[in-house]
Formats: sequence, structure tokens, C-alpha cells
Amino acid sequence: MLIRSICLYCGSNAGGDPVYAEAARTLGREAARRGVKLVYGGGSIGLMGAAADAALAGGGEVHGIIPEHLQRREVQNDAVTRMEVVGSMHERKMRMFDESDAFAILPGGLGTLDETFEILTWRQLGLHDKPVILVNVAGYWDALLAALGHMVRAGFVRPKHAALLSVVGRVEDLFPALELAPPPRPSDDIELA
Ligand code: AMP
Repeated sequence: MLIRSICLYCGSNAGGDPVYAEAARTLGREAARRGVKLVYGGGSIGLMGAAADAALAGGGEVHGIIPEHLQRREVQNDAVTRMEVVGSMHERKMRMFDESDAFAILPGGLGTLDETFEILTWRQLGLHDKPVILVNVAGYWDALLAALGHMVRAGFVRPKHAALLSVVGRVEDLFPALELAPPPRPSDDIELA
């Protein structure tokens, strides 16, 4: 599948292990190298900032989308190719969705989880067919994946819906996995049940 832009959901913190920021930098560098636009939350801190800075350093295109009320708190990254200031978190998530062909998830906290599950539930409901790939850097998401397995076994999540979340173990495997993703189906083909 041809991916021209990728949305990154990840921590506004860097986490306690430098391996997380290294993964974010690798993702940014690789997006730039492949000519894929990076769409992200617009901050200059944590993994968000690390990925954006690496993409910019590699000559890549970076589109930040930040709500007014977070401009200070997430220390808006003024170096990006395009900074879009929106009125609310909901608008931010919608614009990030509109601008992106695929979604990548790196380690992060509650905001990252919220964004990840929103985009997955939209896909579960047939509102889009864009790939969603979780990068399980150093096993950070193991506990979440175990929880998802438990939810499937307990009968609250259909296996085919859990399978909408693709998982790679290393950031180096992200773009090759996206190339293998099936092309989007016409929306009237999407199964709702
Ligand atoms: P975090 O994973 O908590 O470090 O947050 C990562 C990103 O998600 C940051 O850009 C936050 O602004 C954003 N975020 C935090 N809380 C929410 C929320 N409830 N809905 C959407 N995004 C959020």
C-alpha cells in the first residue's frame, strides 16, 4: 500500500529507558528518508518531539496539530513544516485522522492509549480502513496486548476486531509492514459485525 503520510501517537514523556526515544528518532528519520509526511500532536517534548526533530533533521515534512490550550504545556515545536492550531482535542484528533494514511503507535501514556483505541474503534465500526500498527518497543506494550487477549477470551472483543491492531516488535519493521498492508477497501465493503 502506498503510504504518503503517517500519524504518530506516542508519549509526551520520554519514558525511563533511552531505547524509547531512540525508537522515536528512528521512526522520524525513516519517515523522512522514505518521503512520508509525519503527522503528530505538535509538541516538542517527549517521544513526540524526538520523532519530529529527527524527521526534520532528515529533511522530512512534519505537520503538527495542536489545540490552543496545549500550546504552552506541550511546548509547541516551531520548527515543523506546518503547525496547525485547533480549538479542541476532538478537532485535533479529527484533523490528525484526515491528514494520515496510516497510524503508528510508540510507547506512551493515557493520551496515547486514548488516541489508539479511538482510531481502532472507528475502524471496528467501519468508519475507515487505514492500517493501525503498534510498535512494541522493548516489550513496552506486552501488558496491553495480554489485556487484549484476555478481552477476546472473555468474549467482549471479537478476534477479528483485536486483529485490526497490527503489532511489530521493532520500529525498523514498521514501514515494511505498512507496505504489506492491503489497500483500503471501498467503504461499502466493510463488514460491521
Ligand atoms: P501521553 O501519552 O499521555 O503522554 O499523551 C500523548 C499525547 O496525547 C499528547 O499530545 C497529549 O496531548 C494527548 N492526549 C492526552 N490526553 C488526551 C485525551 N484525553 N485525548 C486525546 N489526546 C490526549
